Amino acid sequence: MTRSISLHDVSKTYTRGTRVVDRLTLDIAPGEFLVLLGPSGCGKSTVLRMIAGLEEITEGELRLDGEYANDLGPAERRMAMVFQNFALYPNMTTRANIGFPLRIEAPGADPRPRVDATARMLGIEDLLDRYPAQLSGGERQRVAMGRAISRHPSAFLMDEPLSNLDAKLRNHLRAEIASLTRELGVTTVYVTHDQAEAMSLGDRVAVMRGGVLQQVDSPRSVYALPRNVFVAAFIGTPRINLLRGLVRAPLDGAMTISLGKQYLRLPEPLSLDHQLLRVQQGREVIVGLRSEAVRIAHPGSARPGEMPITGLVEHVEFQGHEVLVHFNTGSRPAHVPDLEAARPTARPAARRRRDGTVLNRLRERAGSLRAGPVVVLDDAPEPGPGATPPDPRLPGDLVVRTTPDIDLRRGMQVPLLVDISHLFVFDQHGERICPSPDHLPDLDE
Ligand code: ADP
Repeated sequence: MTRSISLHDVSKTYTRGTRVVDRLTLDIAPGEFLVLLGPSGCGKSTVLRMIAGLEEITEGELRLDGEYANDLGPAERRMAMVFQNFALYPNMTTRANIGFPLRIEAPGADPRPRVDATARMLGIEDLLDRYPAQLSGGERQRVAMGRAISRHPSAFLMDEPLSNLDAKLRNHLRAEIASLTRELGVTTVYVTHDQAEAMSLGDRVAVMRGGVLQQVDSPRSVYALPRNVFVAAFIGTPRINLLRGLVRAPLDGAMTISLGKQYLRLPEPLSLDHQLLRVQQGREVIVGLRSEAVRIAHPGSARPGEMPITGLVEHVEFQGHEVLVHFNTGSRPAHVPDLEAARPTARPAARRRRDGTVLNRLRERAGSLRAGPVVVLDDAPEPGPGATPPDPRLPGDLVVRTTPDIDLRRGMQVPLLVDISHLFVFDQHGERICPSPDHLPDLDE
């Protein structure tokens, strides 16, 4: 019953030539829970609606269980959609709402057994005789889920189904959705702009930006091996530190990455990845440091692979179970556009390219560039129409996570240790070059 969903080179161009989904290729396995993640306006809902048959595919192919499906009507696809606005019929009870699609599907048949089984599964048996106005937000969303499940669909398509609910209920229902879809084993495509939701739900997460797929991988891989600066910055809280650096690789000395006023020495013997960085000699790069890659400690307590820098405390953010310390290290942060709710700018539809292995590989590599630069290294990006608002981060160029018992105040000079094994390096276009994309370390090592 559950099915595979494949998109091959799928694009969507609305009238006036704006391409909002750009050559998306994605294979979703039967029973997989795939999350489409990205900032508002990046094309996630459009992809979902093309899969559902609610939106025409401008170019490319949709296959359901391997069969060409571009021209199938929504009903023939037998998929169930759950939206953020629950869309229940106000004049129908829960029972009637859940039974409605069953009555349409098989007019003569008695929907009650399926409605009762669905209500049991969702724990809403005692709500069956209530009207939507008599239900809370969370209960309404459960009923909407019930209506989607009762038809035994071949796939679930969920568009931000939890975003109208408060945080506590959202977490609760998130866990319910995860266990329910796993129990039913139905292929699920779930749209969200919330990276924490994506990471907790998805078997795989497909990160989109400006209509272009940036990376599709397990939650663990998108966090540990982001393909570019955009993915690195979109995923993870607190946001990854992105510092502008310069690679120095003198023939007769240690290799370093200078970060403005300080530098990081790369430990010797150089790892293969660091040897590969030699070609960047003299070039500007972006150093990515997640907050767990830096700790507050004296150089004397450095473990192998940790290198010292110092930071001036700019701001201390108390979070209860932990503290985020914002340091000024004298480096310049890299600016990543589109991270928030930026809308993609209008681009004319690109011509369809020829197929071919080498071309395809080049396209893969260039994928994240099609939507415009992932990172901007100019000091003052020109403000203009559609300009991204400034990075909302607090002052400082480096955020470090620490325990709440530490007593730090603004203006203190603090020794820091950087774990070089957790260092990401991205090139000027924002593509990850270290760890090298061609020599992937084993995540289980
Ligand atoms: P997301 O789900 O990621 O927020 P959408 O898929 O809803 O993004 O929208 C992607 C882009 O397509 C947005 O810029 C949006 O304004 C545009 N768009 C969506 N629907 C239409 C439409 N019917 N006509 C023209 N543009 C549209």
